[in-house]
Amino acid sequence: MFQLTEPQKMIQQMMRQYVTKEIQPHVEAMEDGEVSCFDLARKMFKMLGAGAMAKPALEKLAKKREEGESGKVDITKLMAGDEGGGMGDDPMMMMLMVKEISRVSPGFAMSFGVSMALAGGAIVGKGTARQIREFGIPLMTLDKIGAWCLTEPGAGSDAFGSMKSTARPDGHGGYIINGTKTFITNGPVADIFLIYARLDRGQPAPERPVHTFILERGMKGLSTGKPFHKMGMKESPTSEVIMEDVKLEQKHLLGESEEKGSRQETKESLGTERSGVPAMCWGIIERCYEEAVKYAKERVQFNRPIADFQATQLKIYRMYMHLKNVENIVYRIAWMQQQGIRDISFINACKAFTSTAAVEVANEALQIFGGYGYMREYPIEKMYRDAKLLELGAGTTDINMLTCARNELSMI
Ligand SMILES: Cc1cc2nc3c(=O)[nH]c(=O)nc-3n(C[C@H](O)[C@H](O)[C@H](O)COP(=O)(O)OP(=O)(O)OC[C@H]3O[C@@H](n4cnc5c(N)ncnc54)[C@H](O)[C@@H]3O)c2cc1C
Repeated sequence: MFQLTEPQKMIQQMMRQYVTKEIQPHVEAMEDGEVSCFDLARKMFKMLGAGAMAKPALEKLAKKREEGESGKVDITKLMAGDEGGGMGDDPMMMMLMVKEISRVSPGFAMSFGVSMALAGGAIVGKGTARQIREFGIPLMTLDKIGAWCLTEPGAGSDAFGSMKSTARPDGHGGYIINGTKTFITNGPVADIFLIYARLDRGQPAPERPVHTFILERGMKGLSTGKPFHKMGMKESPTSEVIMEDVKLEQKHLLGESEEKGSRQETKESLGTERSGVPAMCWGIIERCYEEAVKYAKERVQFNRPIADFQATQLKIYRMYMHLKNVENIVYRIAWMQQQGIRDISFINACKAFTSTAAVEVANEALQIFGGYGYMREYPIEKMYRDAKLLELGAGTTDINMLTCARNELSMI
């Protein structure tokens, strides 16, 4: 369990070669908004055969839903298709893919993950047969881009308690939705928006259940703001999503039933997001570590390599320790996914730990590079900027730690 199997090693090597040749040369252009990470993601998907594998499996799933079958969906197995081809149905394969991409472009991994795993995953997990066909399949094959919209200007960590977005029944089986979402990954480019909003049937505000609605670009009243200028993750565009009296049909309510609210589904999506972050951190840490070790041996000051100084050696130790811890965490998360084990405390603790470790390692690597580390021409500057987001998104580190503790104390 603590070392890669031969097929996993092969995927890692294949992804390393692919990412180095096909993604790395475009990172600066992606950061400057000249190249879309989704164009590159589609090309990569074609190479992996992932979309083609997923389509028949999703069709089968839609049929089962039609026949009334519900239950949990394993996205990794779905993407592997019936023949278990492409990346196979081993969750570690997906982790390795995310890790390898994050070594050069964490923003690419984030945009791709939000579209497929969060937006696509929620629709495939809870959608009806028609929603899987109409919205789920195009997202899982990357024909369309998805956004997952929970955060609002006044509702960040308190996403549910302070949520203002509201859907009202229109009296004809549909809804009218209003509200503003902010910091939405893929907002400027998405075709399909998964929006969390309170359903107002005249109850007092706190009693209105949260439901998930599927909105499509082009709907009257739906607009997206200009891309935000961010510190990092610049390959991944972010914006506001604004809804002004957007008219929705029944098919736009995820699950097409008001029976159950979306709290559980949201928690599962947050769990998915938090489970993916450690693999991104692994990529950032591994790259920073390797670059720092190489540079420390090459850079000469006071007539010797800076690797000779104990101050450098202690930094290398801390980076190595984080690398190995994060690596082990990812192995365990992949194993848990394969076993179908869901552990809120563990996932939240791991998300908090790995993101903090990524920020520390990027900081130590930059220090080893000295002034050169601060320059865009060297790889650490980008890793340092990108790593910070992982302490903020998918719940801030504070919220991840509190969720873990409260779960352990049986307070949630
Ligand atoms: C680049 C980027 C992409 C994003 N993508 C998406 C997306 O695709 N979809 C989406 O829905 N959201 C997205 N987010 C939003 C992200 O999830 C929120 O930024 C995050 O949940 C924090 O909310 P906030 O920024 O409003 O901070 P706040 O909630 O205002 O928190 C500010 C500070 O207060 C602390 N704090 C708040 N409450 C508590 C508490 N109870 N106890 C202790 N400390 C507390 C926080 O830890 C933090 O340090 C994205 C954000 C960024 C920056």
